[in-house]
Amino acid sequence: MKALIIVDMLKDFVDGKLANPRAQDITGPLQRLLAHAREDGWVVVFSNDAHDPSDPEMKIWGEHAMAGDPGAEVIEELAPREGEIISEKRHYGAFDFTGLDEQLRGRGVDEVVITGQHTHICVRHSSYGALIRGYEITIPRDAVCAFEGVSEDDALEYLKATYGASVTTVDELVGARETVSAT
Ligand code: ZN
Repeated sequence: MKALIIVDMLKDFVDGKLANPRAQDITGPLQRLLAHAREDGWVVVFSNDAHDPSDPEMKIWGEHAMAGDPGAEVIEELAPREGEIISEKRHYGAFDFTGLDEQLRGRGVDEVVITGQHTHICVRHSSYGALIRGYEITIPRDAVCAFEGVSEDDALEYLKATYGASVTTVDELVGARETVSAT
């Protein structure tokens, strides 16, 4: 079973406190992948920052995606549906003190498709969390983004070389299913 994990596609990370212009470019591909995941019955997870003022990373980034604030909501284009997992986190990694591993195991997930922001920070730490818990990791390169000025290629290469991630594209993930259902 596959899970689509969408990391930090929140208002604060798209056009709010930590706005990233690259996030606009991945929203379209992510919408397509999300539609595919829903149609195909994958587990869908929104791994969202929901910070407390006492969280350690406040001293690095300042306040962002504070629990309960509108900035901590998923952008409207990717709005979660009933039954999907909203996994709130207070650190970079989707698996850090969130209980997500148990939730995924309970649903028979063995492969995670990790998307969202940022390739070199939360996507990276989430990939590490997935690796050490034994999940296969897939990263569609057009559905993740780093900050402007950070090399996307280097960030992806790190995920591949260090965590054994398969780096692919949304087209390949969506198209793969069409091939299967045609046979
Ligand atoms: Zn944060």
